[in-house]
Amino acid sequence: MTFSAEKFKQQFPLFAQSENRSLVYLDNAATTQKPACVIDAISDFYLHSNANTHRSSHRLARRATEMVEKVRRDAAAFLGAHSPREIIFTRGATEGLNLLANSLCAGLCPGDEILLSTAEHHANLVPWQMMAERYGLKLCFVPDEAGVPRFDRISEVLTPRTRVVSVTAGSNALGIRTDLHALRKALSGHDLVWVLDGAQLAAHDVVDVASIGCDFFVCSAHKFYGPTGIGLVFGRESLLQGMPPWQGGGEMIANVDLLSSEFAGLPHRFEAGTSSLASIAGLGACIDFLARQNRAEMARHEQILQQYLHERLAQVPELVMLSHGEDNLGIATFVHPRCAAVDLAQWLDGRDIAVRVGHHCAQPLLRAAGHTATVRASIAAYNTREDMDRFIAGVEEFLLQLD
Ligand code: PLP
Repeated sequence: MTFSAEKFKQQFPLFAQSENRSLVYLDNAATTQKPACVIDAISDFYLHSNANTHRSSHRLARRATEMVEKVRRDAAAFLGAHSPREIIFTRGATEGLNLLANSLCAGLCPGDEILLSTAEHHANLVPWQMMAERYGLKLCFVPDEAGVPRFDRISEVLTPRTRVVSVTAGSNALGIRTDLHALRKALSGHDLVWVLDGAQLAAHDVVDVASIGCDFFVCSAHKFYGPTGIGLVFGRESLLQGMPPWQGGGEMIANVDLLSSEFAGLPHRFEAGTSSLASIAGLGACIDFLARQNRAEMARHEQILQQYLHERLAQVPELVMLSHGEDNLGIATFVHPRCAAVDLAQWLDGRDIAVRVGHHCAQPLLRAAGHTATVRASIAAYNTREDMDRFIAGVEEFLLQLD
């Protein structure tokens, strides 16, 4: 089974619409487009299975409940978890990280340390900052060079008080992959839990939490061709068992009295209220869709594109590259000393080339690198060499008219 980007792209109806036929979509790190099977699964849920889950015994409710629990089993296999009890549905990676920060920090003592990195998305910084304030915890950071974390030096900042290490598996601002094998080695033997923000990694790699060796892994379906409004938290069952729920409400209880409640077992005790059921249906279709692809060839295609993109951009005079093509998740980021990033992005938009401009929810990293905004082009498997050429030609044309 080989991989053809052109054939893959044909499965995404947005690109077939007349207004989008010439669109070069390079904002995939923000969100990907959706294949027809995902869109169909969402509308199919509303057409044929719409009912609330778990609480009712009628036919539609049973069908919806079976669908949700099947997708949970599929998601467990998708991430390499041992059991569906280790899979919690959230609204996305942000909610997953908030869940972990709230629940893990509730058991910590003042002065305990949370270790983060300078390359974190705000979703993996702000929830820990809030918990540090609430519980008197100390936030520590992996050593960095101009904001780029040196995970190879993490041992220098691990102390007997380090309780949680929560870091990105791949930076959304620079595309740099974290060396997870080395990180596992550095963390092994320490009495701490290891949280991985896999929001970018899951979009490009087959994830196997068992071989990665992390305790928790979070991701958002919309980054890997699935719907918005649904994300996954993997947590080791032995750890989740001892963690308190972070939100209360229906679905997450076994018994409620006026003054106290008994919580449900795993994973429901972490899923208060009605979940994004149609999005879960879409996620199920997305997992099937990915299972039908040759993931290794897909990843190779993306790698060839990102290396080509980095090589070509490196030849553009004056462009200051913040990313590089080595161990990169398909993200090229740069600035130009003589123009605002936003002007270039708007020029590209006028030529139907979609890129992102700004701080990419990684303000500390950009600040340490000396910038407030960059242009970011991010690749998905439906992108082609022609997309790269059109993007580079657009950048070159814009810079020519500056002279
Ligand atoms: N972490 C990383 C590395 C991300 O790239 C993102 C989104 O861009 C998030 C977390 C937050 O994901 P979401 O907005 O889907 O919750």
